[in-house]
Amino acid sequence: MSKLKIIPIPTGVGHVYLVITGTGFFLVDTGTKGFENKILKAITSRGLNIESLQFIFLTHTHYDHAGCAAYLKEKTGTKIIVQESEADKLKAGFHRVPDGTNPLFKVISFMGKRISKLYNVFQPVEPDIIFNNNLDLSIFGIEGKIIHTPGHTSGSSSLIVENNAFVGDCLFNIMHKIYPPFANDEDELLKSWKKLLEQNADLYYPAHGKRLKKEVILKEYQKRMAKKK
Ligand SMILES: [Zn+2]
Repeated sequence: MSKLKIIPIPTGVGHVYLVITGTGFFLVDTGTKGFENKILKAITSRGLNIESLQFIFLTHTHYDHAGCAAYLKEKTGTKIIVQESEADKLKAGFHRVPDGTNPLFKVISFMGKRISKLYNVFQPVEPDIIFNNNLDLSIFGIEGKIIHTPGHTSGSSSLIVENNAFVGDCLFNIMHKIYPPFANDEDELLKSWKKLLEQNADLYYPAHGKRLKKEVILKEYQKRMAKKK
């Protein structure tokens, strides 16, 4: 039987996931700044030692995912894993709002870009492990991997462990809509959906909203691809 435990920690607009495996535990994303202690409490309240945190994987470096990264790295001494093209944004503490994927969010994105230097900043931090296409997690004694799933941003990535995929903002689940309202490259995004669907996973955990079953994603993918033809 699997010993995997997945604990979603609400951090304002999204979730951080605490994942406890048979051999240790890690975090997927760090939420918006201000939730540092809530995240640490989620760890300690389960009898885990924060200094044993194996790593923090950032699905990408928007402020609502990388917001507590610097603080948590300092407090726990853990390593931060991020895809190559997100590394500079993490070091800068800023990643611009992506383009909208529908008329409403095109407007929100347009306005957001003008004020984003005010709201979308976070404390910069040095990444420790930078990968390009894939990262095998066996280095941490975990049977799993991280794969590059660009589209929402150029460095967006997903972590697969057992039959679970942590997908950041590649997928959403807000008001029955699973297509991200923001994405810089929608062609890339759909290619990443295909890649995610090909993984040996049946549960997909977006940062915004509840987990999704593979069938739901497949249906939306087929609908989107049919529209493109
Ligand atoms: Zn994002």
